[in-house]
Amino acid sequence: MKIIGAGLAGCEAAWASAKKGLKVRLHEARPKWFSPAHRSENFAELVCSNSLKSDEEGHATALLKEEMRALGSIVMEAADATRVPAGKALAVDRDGFSGYITEKISSHPNIEIVREEVKQVASYESQATIIATGPLTSPALAESIASLFSSTYALTHSRTHALYFYDAIAPIIEADSLDMNVAFRGSRYDVGTNEDGDYLNCPFTKEEYDLFIDELLKAEKIMAHGLDDIKCFEGCMPVEVMAERHKDALRHGPMKPMGFADPRTGRRPYAIVQLRQDDLHATLFNMVGFQTRMTYKEQDRVLRLIPGLKEAKFARYGSMHRNTYINGPTFLNEGLELKDHPGIFLAGQITGVEGYLESAAIGLYIGSTCALTHPSTSSLDKLGTSLKACSCAHPLIPPTTAIGALINHIINSDPKHYIPMNCIWGIFPPLEAHPSTSKGPRKAGRKKLLLARARSDFQTWLH
Ligand SMILES: Cc1cc2nc3c(=O)[nH]c(=O)nc-3n(C[C@H](O)[C@H](O)[C@H](O)COP(=O)(O)OP(=O)(O)OC[C@H]3O[C@@H](n4cnc5c(N)ncnc54)[C@H](O)[C@@H]3O)c2cc1C
Repeated sequence: MKIIGAGLAGCEAAWASAKKGLKVRLHEARPKWFSPAHRSENFAELVCSNSLKSDEEGHATALLKEEMRALGSIVMEAADATRVPAGKALAVDRDGFSGYITEKISSHPNIEIVREEVKQVASYESQATIIATGPLTSPALAESIASLFSSTYALTHSRTHALYFYDAIAPIIEADSLDMNVAFRGSRYDVGTNEDGDYLNCPFTKEEYDLFIDELLKAEKIMAHGLDDIKCFEGCMPVEVMAERHKDALRHGPMKPMGFADPRTGRRPYAIVQLRQDDLHATLFNMVGFQTRMTYKEQDRVLRLIPGLKEAKFARYGSMHRNTYINGPTFLNEGLELKDHPGIFLAGQITGVEGYLESAAIGLYIGSTCALTHPSTSSLDKLGTSLKACSCAHPLIPPTTAIGALINHIINSDPKHYIPMNCIWGIFPPLEAHPSTSKGPRKAGRKKLLLARARSDFQTWLH
């Protein structure tokens, strides 16, 4: 098995396959080639936030974590081992997290590591190949992947990428540069792990908020050249784009003040910026929901208008990056294998899921099942007897489960309107209407029923 990319998805796929006894060759471009967002040589690097989202019962992402743990996820194992306080979210010490995974993967006897950029992927290779090179796939490989489908599909923007797409990342601040006479510790509605609160919070008066928004709107931004249609994924929307929509949009979004009292006044602030612990030693904090494409110079100027950040030292500025993914419903079959190129599988964000956890889950799924149990007949011929021997007709995961809902999104969405998707309840198939009323359950009960159905269907599938 050849796996290209030792990110979240590639590591999960490698770990799951190796545990099944397959020999895996894992190719990773770093440190010879770095994407614009990766910094370290470690595998499974978290390139922006250190949060793996909510771990609270009732959230779709908590269900996804539950399923991943049940499948023996290395990402969840590392996250549980390197967890830092973050209220109801599962946040990790980023270096500890990727260090843990690197150590485990590198020392597995069935995994051979090759530190090189793969520049070409060829149809009809002698072994199964999983491409897990992520949203920032190296340009040479992206070109090679695109050339595989150029004859069958007119790509949306160019032959090199199935779609161009942009994400923005949030700045990280050194904790001791914050003015703690203004900023304060606390968790929304006092729900958190630390008694005195998990977040550092910067409270605004109305005047401070108005000034901040005015300067944010005026600030110079980095625009992507050569593209007239930049699409921003809703969950990674830059703050200035939100502010352009409406002056109060941030106050109702990432800067919402609900659940806090400003210790200086005892009253709820007009708006708030939250900073979440980014490393185990609490020396770095990232600005929650503050993705931006302001120039570094403007970030220095405008973000210092945030109360408590006047003297802030930026460990990393926010920035915007390309996000490459293919049109899943057009190109991939239910095993996430390229329809026209049997034996080549895709995993992670490049399939059109969005998020660390979602990308990892797809890699885990492929490593656990698809690559082994659902190769098409033609790829079985080609993959040889060792792979055939591993194959044990595994049923497809039901779309009512969290992983199944993501797979269903990838292969069954409308190809004309395909967008990257997080794991949210909205992508799960609706509950059946009650026969006597022909109405579905109300919202509060709906999540509970979706959760119960998912758990039951997952257990049936697993066993
Ligand atoms: C700038 C940015 C910020 C993001 N922020 C968040 C966030 O805050 N929260 C969140 O949940 N998600 C975020 N995402 C989305 C996404 O979930 C992550 O990018 C996630 O890491 C994707 O996992 P992956 O395994 O698919 O790819 P990656 O984790 O990117 O792994 C791909 C690996 O492949 C390697 N590689 C690339 N090309 C080659 C090649 N030719 N040969 C060999 N190796 C290669 C790379 O070096 C990398 O190690 C962000 C994405 C970007 C681009």
